[in-house]
Formats: sequence, C-alpha cells, structure tokens
Amino acid sequence: MSFFSTRGESCVTASQAILHGLAPDGGLYVPAMFPAVPMQRISSFCEWDYPTRAVSILKRYLEDFSIPEIEQAVRAAYSAERFDTPEIAPVKQIDDATWVLELFHGPTLAFKDMALQLLPHLIRMSAQKNGENREISILVATSGDTGKAALEGFRDVPGTSCTVFYPLDGVSDVQKLQMVTTGGSNTHVIAVEGNFDDAQTGVKELFASEAFREQMNARGKTLSSANSINFGRLVPQIVYYFSAYADLVNSHAIAPGDPVNFCVPTGNFGDILAGYYARNMGLPVNKLICASNRNNVLTDFFSSGIYSTHRTFFKTMSPSMDILVSSNLERLLYEAADRDGALVKTWMEQLKECGSYSIGEQRRDWMLDVFWGDCADNKDTLAEIRRRFREDHYLMDPHTAVGGHVLRQYRLAANDSTPTVLLATASPYKFAADVLRGIAGPDAAEGKDAFACSEELEKLTGIPMPAQVKALKELPVRHKAVCKRDAMGEAVLKEFE
Ligand SMILES: *Cc1c(COP(=O)(O)O)cnc(C)c1O
Repeated sequence: MSFFSTRGESCVTASQAILHGLAPDGGLYVPAMFPAVPMQRISSFCEWDYPTRAVSILKRYLEDFSIPEIEQAVRAAYSAERFDTPEIAPVKQIDDATWVLELFHGPTLAFKDMALQLLPHLIRMSAQKNGENREISILVATSGDTGKAALEGFRDVPGTSCTVFYPLDGVSDVQKLQMVTTGGSNTHVIAVEGNFDDAQTGVKELFASEAFREQMNARGKTLSSANSINFGRLVPQIVYYFSAYADLVNSHAIAPGDPVNFCVPTGNFGDILAGYYARNMGLPVNKLICASNRNNVLTDFFSSGIYSTHRTFFKTMSPSMDILVSSNLERLLYEAADRDGALVKTWMEQLKECGSYSIGEQRRDWMLDVFWGDCADNKDTLAEIRRRFREDHYLMDPHTAVGGHVLRQYRLAANDSTPTVLLATASPYKFAADVLRGIAGPDAAEGKDAFACSEELEKLTGIPMPAQVKALKELPVRHKAVCKRDAMGEAVLKEFE
C-alpha cells in the first residue's frame, strides 16, 4: 500500500509514512485506498482476542511489515503488563441502546494509550526498514493526555527519545504530575507559556525548520512525530471500532451486518477519523457523532461548511478537547475534495493566512451523510456525569460525558434508535475533582487536591481508584523546564546538552 500526502505530492510506503510523521509539503499521509474487510471476516473477529483483531487490521495497511513483525509489536503493546484488563478495550452496556467502549485501561488511563503503546514499536521497525541509524527524536505537543501516553510508550525504547511540550496552564493537576514525574533516560518534558494551539503550532514549525533539523542532525538525531497526525497513531485506532462491533455481535446486541452509531468526544479529530476509516473499510457504521466541548469549532464546521478559528479559546473541564485547529480533519477534507490535494492545500493556506476556509454546501452535505456534530458546555457535562451515575450507575470522566450529552441531543434531534457505542476516552479518576463535583455537587471538591478528590470519589462510588493514580503521590518531580512560545527549539537543544 502506498501513502499520499493530503496536499498532493509524495508517495511513500507505510514505514516511511510512520517514520516521517508529516509529509514534506506539510500534508498528512493517507492510504492510497481503504482495504475492504468483508462481513465474514468481521464475524470471525468475534472469536479472536484483541491483539489478533489488531493484527488483522494492521496488516492490511502496513504492507512493508511482515506478519511476525506486526504480531510482535501488537503483543508487546497490548500485554497484561500494560493494560489492566485482558479485553484491552471492553464494551459495557449502560442503557437500552447505549454501550460504552472503554479505552482507558492502559498505563496512562486515557485512550491515547491504545495507539501510543504500539507506535514506538512501529517507529523502531520503520527506522530499521529504511536504513535509519540516527536516534529517532519524537517531538510532541500535548493538550494533556498525549504527552504522558507518548512518554510511557517511548520510555527506554532503544534508539528513540521523546520530548513533550505542554501548555503551562492548560492541563489538569493529575495530567501535569503524570508527565513531570516520568522516569526513563530518554524522556523530556517542557512547559510552554501559552495554550495548546501555541504548543502545537510551535512543534509544527520545528518540524518545518531546516535549521532546526540540521542542529538535531549534528547531534545524531532525526525528528519524528507521535502526534495524532502520524499514520502510525491512526491505524491502531481503527482496530477498536471493529473490536467493539464484534463484541456487540458476541453479546447478541446486534446481528452481523446491522448498523451501529459511534459517538466520539473529539478534539484533534483523530479518534473519530479512525471510525470513518473503519466505515470505509466496510464496518456497518450508520452515524459518527462528533461531540465537542465549548470549543465547538467542529460543530460549527459541520453546520456551516466553514472552518473558522476567529473565536475565543476556552479552557474547559475536558482539556484534551480544548482545540481550535483539529489537525486530522485534513484527512477528511481530502476525501471530501475527492482526493484533490491541490484543493486541500488551498484550504490549508487560507486557514493559515486568514484563519478560515469554506468547503461549500455540497461537500458539507456529503459529510453530513455520515457525521453529526454538537457540543456540550461545562454545565451540560456535569449534569451528564450526575445523571449517568444516578440512573445507570456508570461513572464518566468529563470528556466521555461531553459525548454522553451530545448523544442525548442527537437522539432528540434525529429520532434514531440505532444501537450506539459511546467512546469513553479517559478514566474518571484522571479528572477526579470535576467528576466529584458532578456527582456530589459544586462544592464537593472545595479545598481538596486531586488525591483527596480521588479518595472521596472512591468512597462515594465504590469504584476502585486505579493503581497509577495512587502511585503519583510518591513519585519525585523530574522535569521542570519552562520555555516561551518562540524558544521551543532552543529548549529542546538544551535538553540534549
Ligand atoms: C485526546 C483525547 C480526546 C480527543 O481525541 P482526538 O483524537 O484528539 O479527537 C478526547 N478525550 C480524551 C480523554 C483525550 O485524551
């Protein structure tokens, strides 16, 4: 399988796409086609464990990897040592028509682990295949969860290093503690004075800078990305859509071939895009419901066909979705443009120069065949956490609750009773203070730090606190660097002195 750039040039192998992250023209790598998975094959997923399901999906895209290589990577990533349930991504029914797909059973308690436990293995193999002997230096901008997941994925993987930038005041206490206490000899964590978009734009500029690449090269390092723009992040995410579908068949909730909706709490558009890819591969997906928080640039995009970043940036209680420029949307635009890279390039230039672009009504309508977008503010989010706990005894984190609220809105608006899988993207214990406010009232977290909130939450709900949260209390802070928005390159070089 070849991979193209969404902006038209480039044609590379899977391993090259994974190794380089971003195409030289600034576009994102997309597969030349979507390999079809026949219903018969989807049915056989029912008998397989998660790693076997993963191999079956991955091998269709990673054609320059051998099956034993893919198996080795997948078994290392989705192991009992790293995930606290053998199902890896369990599906739980919470009401008549709603199932939750729990993607937070990995080491960092968020869905990013699903991809970032696997990616380092894919990158290492990709380097070998392409005769790359330099150290693979990963640069990541994080709105909270990616950073820790990347650090844990790459920690002490030979031949790699991982540097994470996070917005100084844009992540939760637990997220920050998780990152700055990371061990390993090849991990680096730097706070940026700014918001997530500042950090993300800064990292993009470093990737684009010849001078910076040369400085890294002089130190025996070559840059790569672990952000969700890397195809190696996207492809593992396709797996759990198929896996959830097989689990619904196994539990007799649906028959093979029946349609299912997926509702996805969305930020950078990577998670939901994987669902779109699964649909293009033949998974019977009816609607993909795109749930945003108050930073509802995608909601507006789906309703108007205009993507505009001329808006206020809000900090919300679902910080991993506080994003104004959803990078992975570019891959959907590429399909909407009938794979016309020149057109995508024009839109992306307009976005850069004017802060907005319009895809026109026809293409917007084409998207609405599959997508439906809505948003939830903090008040909706807290109400959803409370209601789900009271009515269904299910404890949701704020990101998942944004999805839960939007799913209610969708059902009211569309009168659609198709079985729906809500993607649960983080453990409630990762955002314990807000979850506690949700179930016990606005003052419940007053004067309590994250640990006290977690303890209170455990007491009130009887749902056990994950071991990773308990451990944070004891770990020393190892990373203290802070830098300005336009001094990120210097900050990286300093880490390698
Ligand atoms: C990253 C993240 C999201 C958003 O996923 P995208 O792929 O960026 O759309 C949602 N919830 C949580 C908890 C996350 O960490």
